Amino acid sequence: MTINPVFTCEPVNLPRDELPPGQLDPDTAYQVVHDELMLDGNARLNLATFVTTWMEPQATRLMAECFDKNMIDKDEYPRTADLELRCVRMLAQLWHAPPAPDATGCSTTGSSEACMLAGLALKRRWQHARKAAGKPVDRPNIVMGVNVQICWDKFANYWDVEPRLIPMDGDRFHLSAAEVVAHCDENTIGVIAVLGSTFDGSYEPVAEICAALDELQTTTGCDIPVHVDGASGAMIAPFCDPDLVWDFTLPRVASINTSGHKYGLVYPGVGWILWRDAAALPEDLVFRVNYLGGNMPTFALNFSRPGAQVIAQYYNFLRLGFQGYQRVQHTCREVATTMADKISELGPFQLLTRGNELPVFAFTLHEHVSGYSVFDVSAALREHGWLVPAYTFPEYRTDLAVLRIVVRNGFTHDLADLLLADLRTELPRLAHQPNPQRGTEFSSFSHGASHPHHTTTPHHTDGMVTEVPVKRLDTGP
Ligand SMILES: *Cc1c(COP(=O)(O)O)cnc(C)c1O
Repeated sequence: MTINPVFTCEPVNLPRDELPPGQLDPDTAYQVVHDELMLDGNARLNLATFVTTWMEPQATRLMAECFDKNMIDKDEYPRTADLELRCVRMLAQLWHAPPAPDATGCSTTGSSEACMLAGLALKRRWQHARKAAGKPVDRPNIVMGVNVQICWDKFANYWDVEPRLIPMDGDRFHLSAAEVVAHCDENTIGVIAVLGSTFDGSYEPVAEICAALDELQTTTGCDIPVHVDGASGAMIAPFCDPDLVWDFTLPRVASINTSGHKYGLVYPGVGWILWRDAAALPEDLVFRVNYLGGNMPTFALNFSRPGAQVIAQYYNFLRLGFQGYQRVQHTCREVATTMADKISELGPFQLLTRGNELPVFAFTLHEHVSGYSVFDVSAALREHGWLVPAYTFPEYRTDLAVLRIVVRNGFTHDLADLLLADLRTELPRLAHQPNPQRGTEFSSFSHGASHPHHTTTPHHTDGMVTEVPVKRLDTGP
């Protein structure tokens, strides 16, 4: 690539994909990289992601001051280590962990790592219990909805656990207690309940699932723990749904994760995993490191990782407090529900969810709309700068194609109205289309019909995974 002549005194040519042979002065290098990044999207118009795209300048300054801090170096950075522990204790209280001398949990790079750790703890606990009973440990399985985020498919694949994915059925787009129980047996290491589903923002019925598993234990003796994947919802429900019972209040809930960088409101790179008590995390998974000085317990997939995000999480907790988070999340829910109502009033759209659980809603086209697809709507909005993803649902609702809007902090009623105005502008043009232009490769557009397709799901025979899952379109983060 050639460098803008304004930046340098001599013409400069640089290879794009090879390490350049010589040096560049820092201002020129900065400008070149900066200019290229102009082409990245405008994050505030991105209604696809759950991940934080804006923090206050004070948080940004604090993070910049801490970019050099390595989270693993707890002896070098004892204050950072202590802020992490305080965050864990705050979350333990928020999620009603039973009183204990100290909370059990840690920060991670995100929910994916947190889910790996939670899954490993479930697997190891199951192995210990089975070995103690003189039973085989070669065929563990994990029960969850087909709507789980891809990290759970990874967990099952990477750690040789059979994924028992419960399909969607008709208007049921996530787990039901009855389906969970029907899929569990003595080899089930745990059940994953998602608060809320990335496909449509709905909460899975954690309390009902726990009650059904209590019943199962009474009749069969199988004591199956539940992990709540609260990547988004564990930072929404405590503030917006105080009456919902979903957390450690339920004795069967063994662990909960959340993404600090989603509704925890921190820039990408932080998640949290908590266990209800020390007994829920087998001691033999925890390493003690002393070569950095001190003797620190660590349970993580990474070793070195940035400390700045954890510090920014503590900043947010301190800065916003319970009431601040409540105002932020309430506002998101209000914007989401209002926008969902207005979209349903436009005519062509049918809501699957209303934004009254996660501030996220999915909607599809009414059956009578035949000239355009949700993919066409997505493309039309793209021309106005909005990123509203369209995707098909997994087994057995691959016939269903939807649009999804994720409302995050900073997406105001004002911006929502601008998006609605753009949608209103586009609808007459779309209505003149004779046929859908996009998406026919994904969907049959036979709305409402529920016929199974078997092309996109993992196959497992004999309890073992025989094929890497050919994953449906990933809907998260
Ligand atoms: C986003 C998400 C994840 C993955 O979280 P990361 O923080 O992006 O690793 C896992 N589960 C659910 C339900 C999610 O929404």
